[in-house]
Amino acid sequence: MTDLNQGWFTEVFQDEGTAFSLKVKRKLHEEQTEYQTLEIWETESFGNLMVLDGCVMLTSRDNFLYHEMMTHPALFTHRNPKKVVIIGGGDCGTLKEVLKHPDVEEVWQIEIDERVTRLSEQYFPELCESNTDPRANFFFGDGVQWIREVAPGSLDVIIIDSTDPVGPAEGLFALDFYRDAMLALREGGIIVQQSESPLLHTSTIIKGIHDDMRQAGFRHVRTLPFPQPVYPTGWWSCTLASKEKPVIYFREEDADKRSFVTRYYNADIHRGALAMPQFMVNVLEDEVFPDEG
Ligand code: SAM
Repeated sequence: MTDLNQGWFTEVFQDEGTAFSLKVKRKLHEEQTEYQTLEIWETESFGNLMVLDGCVMLTSRDNFLYHEMMTHPALFTHRNPKKVVIIGGGDCGTLKEVLKHPDVEEVWQIEIDERVTRLSEQYFPELCESNTDPRANFFFGDGVQWIREVAPGSLDVIIIDSTDPVGPAEGLFALDFYRDAMLALREGGIIVQQSESPLLHTSTIIKGIHDDMRQAGFRHVRTLPFPQPVYPTGWWSCTLASKEKPVIYFREEDADKRSFVTRYYNADIHRGALAMPQFMVNVLEDEVFPDEG
């Protein structure tokens, strides 16, 4: 539910009894796409704001936290990622981060709603500046179906940068989808999914993701919390999983000596994010703590 009250955009989280507000200057755009209601606002202090179906997606000011954490932990956990697929992510922020890795050869962004990308080009040009990179490929369609139909054993990393698990994104938080993703990955493959708020969703959505990923055959699953001020509770997470290699080990030296600029991610942040809060350990009790890399 959203509200505009005396120059404030407010997203109300009715079930949690909380709300998040940004002071806005004006609405820059609103349309009903084939899939959702899309709004763009100019805020006082967070740059531009994108809202889908009343839910805050991103702002110019703080999206780097989410996009860097959706990308670099997974890519520095994989031994040598060459082919990467982003499911959702239509604002192109994750795509931009993936393309910073010089050894990645091919990236596909599978976004169901082309309007999200077209409006991001207009209102978040800084996120779209790598879209002309020859390694970047775009497909506008359903990610569930795309993963079902892609050649088996053809991908190194799958990044699920989706909306909340309702509407078109529901099928991206499902056992059948993880089974298809498992088949689509090559040996050493890694999957990473945006997994909502540790505070609100550990025993529901995050636990469900862990259980389903394990059932689909991913032996190692780990949730990495990180700050995201504009999302419910201001605390968000991504969940990494792999078939073979424990995801608590990553290429620390490569992360440390990375050849590109980041604003949040570094090897220390990655190590820190792997430290799981005790209440999450208690809930995700099936978590394996392997002793070898
Ligand atoms: N970081 C954001 C968040 O968690 O609020 C999500 C960013 S991105 C804008 C999410 C994108 O996922 C949306 O543009 C939406 O259209 C897309 N999406 C949702 N379901 C999808 C599906 N089944 N296949 C492909 N894209 C999907």
